[in-house]
Parts: sequence; C-alpha cells; structure tokens
Amino acid sequence: MPYREIDLNVSKEVLAMQKEAHEFAKKVMRPVGVELDKMPDPAEVIAKDSVLWDAFKAYREMDLHMLQMPKALGGMAEDLDPMAAYLMGEEMGYGDVGLAVSLGVSNMPFNFAALFQHVPELNQMAHDYCEDKEGQMIGCWAITEPDHGGDWSLGGEDPKCGPSVVGVLKGDEYIVNGEKSAWVSNGTIATHAVLHVGLVPEKGMAGSGLAIIPLDLPGITKDKPLDKMGQRPLNQGSIIFQDARIPKQYMVIGEEAIEFMVGMGETILAGANGGMAVIYAGLAKAAFDEAFRYSQERIQGGVPIFEHQNVKLKLFKMFTMVEAVRANSRRMALYNAANSDAPSGTHAVAAKCLATEMATFVASEAMQIFGGYGLAREYPIEKMYRDARAGMIEDGVNETLSLAAVDFLV
Ligand SMILES: Cc1cc2nc3c(=O)[nH]c(=O)nc-3n(C[C@H](O)[C@H](O)[C@H](O)COP(=O)(O)OP(=O)(O)OC[C@H]3O[C@@H](n4cnc5c(N)ncnc54)[C@H](O)[C@@H]3O)c2cc1C
Repeated sequence: MPYREIDLNVSKEVLAMQKEAHEFAKKVMRPVGVELDKMPDPAEVIAKDSVLWDAFKAYREMDLHMLQMPKALGGMAEDLDPMAAYLMGEEMGYGDVGLAVSLGVSNMPFNFAALFQHVPELNQMAHDYCEDKEGQMIGCWAITEPDHGGDWSLGGEDPKCGPSVVGVLKGDEYIVNGEKSAWVSNGTIATHAVLHVGLVPEKGMAGSGLAIIPLDLPGITKDKPLDKMGQRPLNQGSIIFQDARIPKQYMVIGEEAIEFMVGMGETILAGANGGMAVIYAGLAKAAFDEAFRYSQERIQGGVPIFEHQNVKLKLFKMFTMVEAVRANSRRMALYNAANSDAPSGTHAVAAKCLATEMATFVASEAMQIFGGYGLAREYPIEKMYRDARAGMIEDGVNETLSLAAVDFLV
C-alpha cells in the first residue's frame, strides 16, 4: 500500500528497528490480541496456557524489555535513538494497544529499580529482570484507588483527596494498608509494582511516597481480573494491602523526599501520557489502514467503495487526522527525550488527549466505511473502536488531565 512516510533524517538502523517492531506487531501482537479479546472470561486471558505468554516471551526474546535499561545492565537506554524509541512505540500500538500497555508497563518497576543501583535489593531486582527471557517477572504501576482516580491529578494538598493506601514506618518496615483499584494494568499477573503510598495524610496526594516492591511480601493479595469493554487483552485487577510489611529500602521516595515527588508532577505526567500518545498514534494508523484496504475490496454500485466520493472524503479526513496525531506525538516525544530532566507534561497531555480522541474518531469512521461488517466481531474494526475509546479514560480521564496540565502553562 503506498503510504508515504515523510520523516526526514531517519537512519537505516532506526528503519530496521522499526521494521522488526512492525513484524512483531503484525505477526505476534495483532493475532494474540484478537484471540485474547474474544475470550468471554478475563480469567482465560491470564491462564497458564493462554497465548498472552507467547507475546510476553517473544517480546523478551527480542530484548524489547532492555530498551530503557542502562548500558551497565546490558540495556540500550543511553544509545537508543529517540526516533527509534518513538517508532517502536507506535508499532506496538499498531499491533494491539491493550497488549502494548501490558508489555510496556511490565518494564516499569525494573526501569525504576535500575535508577537505584546503590540499594542492593533493587540492583538485584533490575539484574534479574534483564536476565528474564521467559516473562516471569512482570511489573505494574499501582496508583489509582477505588475512591481516588482524578484525585491523583487534581487533589493536590487537600487531605480530603489523599490516598487510602497509607504506610506507617515501624522500625525498618512500612506497615501498609488499603487497596489499589481494579484498573491497575497487569494487576492480576504482576510480580512487582511501582506503588504510590500515602505517608503524610494531612498533605493529601502531595504527601505520597513511592515504593518499588515485589508483590510476594507478607500481607499483599490480588483480586480477580476485571471484565471490561475495551483492551480486553490487557489484564487489570486490584491489589490489596492488609498490614503488608514493606522493607524500608523499597520506599525510594520516603517522607523526607516527598517535596521532591511534588516537584516531579509534570515529569510523571510527561512520562505516562507521552507513552500513551505514541501508542494511540499507532492505533489510529492501524484503523486507517484497515479501512483503506477494505474500501478497495468491497464492491457496491458495481465498483470498489473507494470510488464513491463520500468514502474518499472520509478516508482523506482520517488520513489527515492520523498524520496530525503522528506529527504531534513525534514532536513531543523527541523534545521530551532530549529534555528528560525537565520534560513538557503539557505537551504530553495535549498529545495524549489528541491521540486518544483522534484514534477514537478514526476507528469510528473506519466502522462507517466497513458498514455492517464494522460491527461484526470477525473484522478488526469494532475491537479497535472499543480499544481506542478506553484511551480517553486510561492513565487519567482526558478532562482531569487537561485541567492539571493547563496550569503548567502559567
Ligand atoms: C485501560 C485503562 C488502564 C489503566 N491502567 C492503570 C494502571 O496501570 N494503574 C493505575 O493505577 N490505574 C490505571 N487506570 C486507572 C485510570 O488512571 C483511572 O481510571 C483514571 O485516572 C480515572 O479515574 P476514575 O476511573 O476513578 O474516574 P473518576 O476520577 O471517578 O472520574 C469520573 C468523572 O469525574 C470527572 N472528575 C473527577 N475528578 C474531577 C475533578 N476534581 N474535577 C472535575 N472533574 C472531575 C472525570 O473527568 C470523569 O469524567 C487505567 C484505566 C484504564 C481505563
């Protein structure tokens, strides 16, 4: 299909990495995602014999989990061309956006652990992860709680909005109680977590610390997987802390460093939302490609429907939106990679909102081009639409994120 790519100055090496990621997206992620999506019970998605594990193994065998790991641990972080990182992220979203989130977040605690190599337990955790080609060590990011979603972006220092998962230091351990919500991606299969914990309740969300923990510590249990409309290949579930004992060394941002976390607000938004923007750019492109292909195959009025002007106009509008999203996401991702000490959360949130809203628009228009078959489960479009729609809520509802990000403009 003649889809002209207009990025300038992309090296041959980067294009080769993109090609490899594209093959992985098409040959592994897309079919695995479709199979997992059709499973009626989300418990099947994470069963021992599930194809989910094929995707995890293939991802690790390709060393994709090493992209953001430092060279000292055998990783590629310092040498990775930001354009390669961008294009590979886009390809993951092209394959399957739910799996892209599952695979992406599976790295998170270990990428963080690698930043704390002076803590022996975290150093060991990062090393073990680099060696794991089987997908036995899996991470998650546990921030949202049953009663606190938007509060994480907008609650600030208001004690009414503070987290319910709280930790109290006793000797060398934090005693942690509370529950993280059923929305934690990989919550049901994760072995490790980046955990946000309230340490100074009178300071609300601003009184939260950060721990990098194994989830087999005493007092931690997990709930059953959540059943939901979109991104069904992405398992999600709550994590419950009942007098859980977290050794002090895992609390990398303790009470004394909480001010540092407050200052990190824009950086956290930039990291999480920047990544979302990139994968949804990939999903938007995938929905366009499907609709374009179908428009040339489906005959109505004696000709391929592409020949009808209404279909042409729709396709060109979709193409325009896909290219706008890709251009915007690239610009944001390349800037933030070059300014990792002070990335722009504003641009990341803007890119996330644009990408998720346009991916939903493009998938919806693709459904229109498919006609009745757009609703049928044997075609990929209705899944893409459901997956895209979830993005406007994922990693923060677009409205609450926007309200948080607009203040960075001042
Ligand atoms: C696919 C997916 C993956 C996710 N992955 C993770 C994960 O890995 N880890 C994790 O911890 N969480 C995860 N989440 C949770 C996600 O971050 C939350 O769903 C999101 O932050 C919204 O919280 P909520 O669902 O509690 O909605 P609420 O905060 O209850 O929002 C409900 C409505 O009220 C509005 N609202 C809320 N607060 C305000 C306010 N102060 N001012 C104005 N309007 C407001 C919102 O805009 C929204 O329309 C995921 C969610 C999804 C859908």
